[in-house]
Amino acid sequence: MVIPADQPFQVRSEQTSPAPELVCRILVVDDDPALRQSLPRALARNGRKFSESDTVAGAIALLEREPFDLVLLDYRLPDGTGLAVLDWLAQHQREEAVIMISGEDALDAAIGALRGGADDYLRKPYHVAQLQRAVESALHKAALERANRAMSQRLRTSERLHRYLVESSPDLIFTLDAEGRFSYLNPRVKALLGYDRNVLMRRPFTTLVMPEDVDRIATLLYAPVAGPGESFHVELRLRRNRELLAGDSPEWITVALTGIPMPAREDGRRGGGLYGVARDISERKRAEEIISFQAYHDQLTRLPNRVLFKDRLELAIAQAQRRTGALAVMFIDVDRFKLVNDTFGHAEGDMLLRGIAARLAGTLRRGDTLARLGGDEFTVLLPDINGPQDAEVIARKILDSLSAPFPLSHGDFRATASIGIALFPRDGDGAEDLTRHADIAMYQVKRSGKNGFRFFDIALNSHYRERIVLENDLRTALERREFELHYQPQISLTQHRVVGMEALLRWNHPNLGLVSPATFIPVAEEMGLIGDISRWVLEEACGQLARWREAGHNDLRMSLNLSPHDFDSQDVVTMVTECVERHRLPPSQLELEITESMMMQDAAGVAAKVRGLREAGLSVAIDDFGTGYSALAYLQKFPVSTLKIDRSFVRELEGPNTNPIISAITGIARGFGLQLIAEGVERSEQAETLRTLGCDVMQGFLYARPAPAAEATAWLYDAPDASALH
Ligand code: C2E
Ligand code: CA
Ligand code: CA
Repeated sequence: MVIPADQPFQVRSEQTSPAPELVCRILVVDDDPALRQSLPRALARNGRKFSESDTVAGAIALLEREPFDLVLLDYRLPDGTGLAVLDWLAQHQREEAVIMISGEDALDAAIGALRGGADDYLRKPYHVAQLQRAVESALHKAALERANRAMSQRLRTSERLHRYLVESSPDLIFTLDAEGRFSYLNPRVKALLGYDRNVLMRRPFTTLVMPEDVDRIATLLYAPVAGPGESFHVELRLRRNRELLAGDSPEWITVALTGIPMPAREDGRRGGGLYGVARDISERKRAEEIISFQAYHDQLTRLPNRVLFKDRLELAIAQAQRRTGALAVMFIDVDRFKLVNDTFGHAEGDMLLRGIAARLAGTLRRGDTLARLGGDEFTVLLPDINGPQDAEVIARKILDSLSAPFPLSHGDFRATASIGIALFPRDGDGAEDLTRHADIAMYQVKRSGKNGFRFFDIALNSHYRERIVLENDLRTALERREFELHYQPQISLTQHRVVGMEALLRWNHPNLGLVSPATFIPVAEEMGLIGDISRWVLEEACGQLARWREAGHNDLRMSLNLSPHDFDSQDVVTMVTECVERHRLPPSQLELEITESMMMQDAAGVAAKVRGLREAGLSVAIDDFGTGYSALAYLQKFPVSTLKIDRSFVRELEGPNTNPIISAITGIARGFGLQLIAEGVERSEQAETLRTLGCDVMQGFLYARPAPAAEATAWLYDAPDASALH
């Protein structure tokens, strides 16, 4: 097979060589017919075929037609000498073995024959055995030569094949000498790295390696190795010749390099040199980077995610432990984010989150990690701080950074955040503990009015645990009928009787006993359970009022407390009016207590609902009046029927010195035509002062503590007497 060097192979499965030629052709050239007859007989063997000729010309004619393995050639022939046949064979580069047979004595005939290419010379007369030996050995020699020729042909082919494979390989293939310099490079180096291979020959391999990788590869290249056949595999970056490569080609590419030390020494040990194959894996590297980026980052903000944060935190903890340093973890929760999301949609919400992420990132130093855990929760790792004050500085910076409004398509939004901070090692020595403790501290900020920061405090932790218990049990409290209403009477001093009852919720916890509403109502509000609870309270209080009315207490008023959330999320007006109708109650006998702070939160929405309640004939009281900001302006918008003077003012009433605020409140009530109820009246002097200020209805321990319905019923017949407590 002849292979043009610059033409690709047709790769075929390795050719099976034809079955060894069994036929051995022998041409007998002699003008003696007797000899032509006897020779084949003497030499006959299986597979031997004989042809014959009696002239030079005849012999050549036969040779032209087909190849022979052996020619038995008479020296003297009618049309010339056997030498002419030898000449012809030589000229035609024939491979037939030739045994010259001659009666000539002359030595020069024999020499001429052997020079002319004959393999052997036999002198007549000869012994048959002599002839047979000569023929066997000539045939054997010819067979060897043929095999040898075939072998070197195959070698040439194979060498060309391998060269072709190496030179046209899509991989960069090279060899290095014992000093690590290129001794061979395939042409691929041009396309891959932009160098001519001649330029690189005899240059050290390391000149192509990026400086950061040189040490790594040098140890592999020059390290003594154990035995033959071992190889190494590394990924490293190779410099590219950007002058020769197109436009914005990268400075380097990543290659996977397989190196095989070359056994140049006889004992097979590495004598020096290396055979290397390098493949461009930049694409794969990029893909891996993208995949790992996605696995470790948040899609929306491109910040590290929970997994990466935990990783970095663990690392930072390990480092801090080594150098006995400190670090801080912050848990940041955006206040009122849900509002934006619910009101303006997710697109706006996402925009806001990205904006917030950018501001937060702007407050941090290099080496700090800002991560988004999901939703509106972010965490910050400050891996190197000197003390709490450092974390405090950052927390303040973060709060500051949010103070400028975020322009959303529906208008500006002022974001605030609640930040909890946990310190290593003070607040925990594991990533999980620190994050959880920062979360607890954040949670405390939320509970105490949001927009601020707070350090974790172990006391908060136990509180937090209790809270978890509370949360779990609160979910099932309604269905387990653990709630109960107590009633506290409101007593008219002039009428000497109970004019109203305030329904106050009690939770009979199976283990904790009676849990104060001040404890569990805020939790229920946060958990979104307050709606169901309020509904239950409303139903229960209305049912109780209906029973008292049936018993003849027709002008009794029932007060109950509503949560701001009832005004946010449900249609209180329908809820209340339906309940009142169901129990056939005159609406004015039901009084709903709302707080001052509610009136300010979303003035328009709440105001409309309060008006709705009033239009339906219900009474509305402002609870804890006077504790919020001056509510005078609101009173015009909120058509309430009653003001409840907060306990804190009542407490300050000492003897005849009147509190100017209470005077103002009583004045306002008179001016707006509102009823007044004083709360938390504990001492008769307080009642006395209130009475002189024009407040008639009292509620407080002086008269009665809240009590279950059965007990409260008794007060309807026999009003609790203030004097009885003295
Ligand atoms: P509030 O509406 O201001 O209720 C009056 C609270 O003052 C009651 O506490 C009552 O027991 C207490 N109190 C009454 N007289 C005196 C007194 O002379 N001195 C003192 N020191 N305290 C007195 P309670 O029952 O623990 O309720 C606490 C708060 O829980 C209530 O304050 C109210 O805001 C809320 N709450 C109670 N029941 C409900 C309810 O059914 N729904 C809602 N949303 N909130 C409720
Ligand atoms: Ca109340
Ligand atoms: Ca109150």
